[in-house]
Amino acid sequence: MKINKRISKVCAMALSASMIMSAMTGITVDAASFNYGEALKDGVTFYDANKCGKDAGENNAFSWRDACHVNDGKDVGFDLSGGYHDCGDHVKFGITQGYAASVLGWSYYSYKDSFKKAGADTKMLETLKHFCDYFMKCHPNMFTFYYQLGDGNQDHAYWGAPEAQGDRQTMFKVDNSSAGSDVCGEAAAALALMYLNTDDSAYGAKCLTNAKSLYALGKSKLGLSQGQSFYTSSSYEDDLAWAAVWLYKATGEASYLQDAKNYLNTGKGIHQDEWTMCWDNMWTPAEIMMYDITKDSAYINAVKHNIDYWIKDVPTTSGGLKYLTQWGCLRYSAAQSMVAIEYYGLTKDESAKSFATKQINYILGDNPSNYSFIVGFGDKYPKHPHHRAANGYTYADSGNLKEAKHVLLGALVGGPSTMGDNYQDNAQDYTASEVGIDYNAGFVGAVAGLIADGAISVQPSEKPTPSVSPSPSVKPSPSVAPSEKPSPSIAPSEKPSPSVAPSVKPSQGTVVAGDVVPDVKVNTTFGSSINQSYTISSKKGTVDLSKLKIRYNYTKSGNKAQTFTCDNAGLQLNVAPYYVNMTPHVKAAFGDGYVDITFDTTQTIAANAGSMNLGCRMYQSDWSSYEGFADGSVEVYYNGTLVG
Ligand SMILES: [Zn+2]
Repeated sequence: MKINKRISKVCAMALSASMIMSAMTGITVDAASFNYGEALKDGVTFYDANKCGKDAGENNAFSWRDACHVNDGKDVGFDLSGGYHDCGDHVKFGITQGYAASVLGWSYYSYKDSFKKAGADTKMLETLKHFCDYFMKCHPNMFTFYYQLGDGNQDHAYWGAPEAQGDRQTMFKVDNSSAGSDVCGEAAAALALMYLNTDDSAYGAKCLTNAKSLYALGKSKLGLSQGQSFYTSSSYEDDLAWAAVWLYKATGEASYLQDAKNYLNTGKGIHQDEWTMCWDNMWTPAEIMMYDITKDSAYINAVKHNIDYWIKDVPTTSGGLKYLTQWGCLRYSAAQSMVAIEYYGLTKDESAKSFATKQINYILGDNPSNYSFIVGFGDKYPKHPHHRAANGYTYADSGNLKEAKHVLLGALVGGPSTMGDNYQDNAQDYTASEVGIDYNAGFVGAVAGLIADGAISVQPSEKPTPSVSPSPSVKPSPSVAPSEKPSPSIAPSEKPSPSVAPSVKPSQGTVVAGDVVPDVKVNTTFGSSINQSYTISSKKGTVDLSKLKIRYNYTKSGNKAQTFTCDNAGLQLNVAPYYVNMTPHVKAAFGDGYVDITFDTTQTIAANAGSMNLGCRMYQSDWSSYEGFADGSVEVYYNGTLVG
């Protein structure tokens, strides 16, 4: 059975494509000119921007960051301050923190010298410690692990500095009645890695004790964490295996090795993955470590399956980017680059190294626009990252649309939101412009791995951390290109994989309905579920959402029961109240070959006043993969009349 590989990080901003940087030049960037040392150092520095807690301002590379959320945990009687904000928002999610911390720890474990060469080792160890300090606070006793601080819906309605946000709720924990094997496993892996990475033996011992305890807690009640729907995990066996390999490395105890073997074995052999390392998926990294430990070829064969899948089956843009899925596509190519360079380290398979080099160079500027997707790196880079603290403004004056006040040095943005290599430097388009602690983790590991292999330029960067952008005045981006041109979406030689989302496509939707012109756009991606992201606005008149119906037609074989889930729906307005949570108001009904989406609210959207983003998915009730799925049209009805 395939895993549900839903990419559901949702933030409360609406999509509005207005600033599009188009691929326009044919100038070749000399890959050899990239300073990998600087890229690595910047990539680590980024974490300071998302630092949370009483000491967030101490020794922070960014002068515009300070203490925040100092009362986290007070509502449950613990000090749960610390840790890291998730992306451009301020929620602390267990699943991405555990992922980021363990992947960063793995990077340092594998490529310590690279961090030293780049002058990034001190900051890296500080970052790993800040993560680990937090995980240990969140595990106040052997029966408890707090894994979500802050309510995503409330948080996303706030656009402002984390320092000014005030107190918030402690949301979710693992305990005797609530499982969370995935989040426990990830945090345990990070802590076991810290034992292996730190020179402070007393601190390392404390981390190892907590790692063992968290792992035991994760095993004691097997099951998935139940945090808010922004991230929902699809398996925990990979996370427990990931923890077990590092606990085995740290302790040499055979029981951990046996556990890892058991978790990675599906009953028909070792799990062969067709996705990549990410917050929801640690199969391949665990298999890499199992091969490293056991030299059992079954593990490296499983890794090779994943490497081959990426090289042969994941679509490639005309600019050379491997494009797994739309939302934050660069994080996946970066993470897979780290997997590939680790694989290269074990096998010396040059094709894997070549893959990693090409993808990382694309990110650094070897792409059709010679555009760096790392903020502050190179000459042309994103000026509108979706990041509240760096942006420095509020919703009230539409400040969130302005060029960021502060340079978010080292942040990897999501990247091109279509297969066409085009990037929208627009904070509202968060699928493209958001950043994240999980995004940077794989990137850091991949760059460190390339440096370790002797690749290219490694000069410790001496540049000061820029705190204010040179042009703080609000102005339209000069890189807005009216000449946006469609580009070939898939290289002819690449076979689109049916199980990975090649079908990202804009859909129709504007027809005059009297004085009201609703505008509905949708991106559909298809994996083991049908995932859709709608943008709904009004081009003319005021759309009454109670009169709107969206019919999505699709075909499939078989007649298994269908389930619809709205992961998040939010209305983003240019005027007060700026944000309205619409998730509870989204309804769906299945018909023969279609689903109708409606809204039980009288909320309206006036012309040019804002838009609603709706993320949803359809899946078979038994979670089996669709067979014979064919994407169809979207029909828009207003007041009972077909209008688009
Ligand atoms: Zn904070």
